Amino acid sequence: MATATATATATAPASVADDVERHPCPRCGAEPGSPCRSRGGVVAGAYHAGRFVRVPQLAKRLRVPTLADRDRGGRGARVTAPDADRPGGG
Ligand SMILES: [Zn+2]
Repeated sequence: MATATATATATAPASVADDVERHPCPRCGAEPGSPCRSRGGVVAGAYHAGRFVRVPQLAKRLRVPTLADRDRGGRGARVTAPDADRPGGG
């Protein structure tokens, strides 16, 4: 009898990111408290595996998104329509 206790959580709460950021990243050299960064210096969409595996609860994860993911995830900007002059004046 196997007891399956797998917590399938797709999202990473802030506490998770906090745990990851306690460790420096061996991959990109991010210091504790800072998210992983890509080559260009931009905040990566996810932490590098070499970093988050140091957190036991995350070691089995394939991908741990950074908190910065929140910022770019909000893609619902209103399109401001230019109030063009309507023809037909007069
Ligand atoms: Zn990294």
